[in-house]
Amino acid sequence: MKKRKFIKLLTFGLLLPFVSLKAFATEIKKVIKSNKEWKKILTTDQYYILRQEGTEHPYTSPLDNEKRQGEYFCAGCKTALFNSKMKYDSGTGWPSFFEHYPNVIATKLDFKLLLPRTEYHCAVCEGHQGHVFNDGPPPTGKRYCNNGASLTFVPKA
Ligand SMILES: [Zn+2]
Repeated sequence: MKKRKFIKLLTFGLLLPFVSLKAFATEIKKVIKSNKEWKKILTTDQYYILRQEGTEHPYTSPLDNEKRQGEYFCAGCKTALFNSKMKYDSGTGWPSFFEHYPNVIATKLDFKLLLPRTEYHCAVCEGHQGHVFNDGPPPTGKRYCNNGASLTFVPKA
C-alpha cells in the first residue's frame, strides 16, 4: 500500500516538468511572417530595425523622453515588452529599461562591432529591439538599450 502511493507520487513528479513545459509552449505563440509580409505592415524604419537588426540614430525617438505611465509593445507583433516602471533615463539617447516582462525577450551574441554585444529581440516575432549591457541601475544592473522605432507606446488611460 505504502509502496503504491510512493510510485504514484514518483510518476506525478516525473510528469510535472513535461506538464509545465507544455504550458509554457502554449503561452508563447510565435508570429512568423515572410519578409514580404513584414514589409507590408511595417514602416521603412521599423523594417530596418526589426527585420534587419538596424539601429536608429540616438536622440531621434520621441520615446527616449517619454515619461508618461503606460506600456511599450513590440511594433511588429504588438506583444507587451516593457512598462513605464521599468524605464529610466540612461542619457544615451535611446529608450532604456532595466527590466522587461517575463518570457518575451530572447538574446543572442552579436559580433557586428569588434567586441561581442548581447543582442535582444522579441521572443514572439523575433524582431530585433536592441542590445543589453551590464551598466544599468539596481535592482537588475541591466540596461536594455532599445530602438524607439521598434516599439509602440500606449499611455495608461
Ligand atoms: Zn514582436
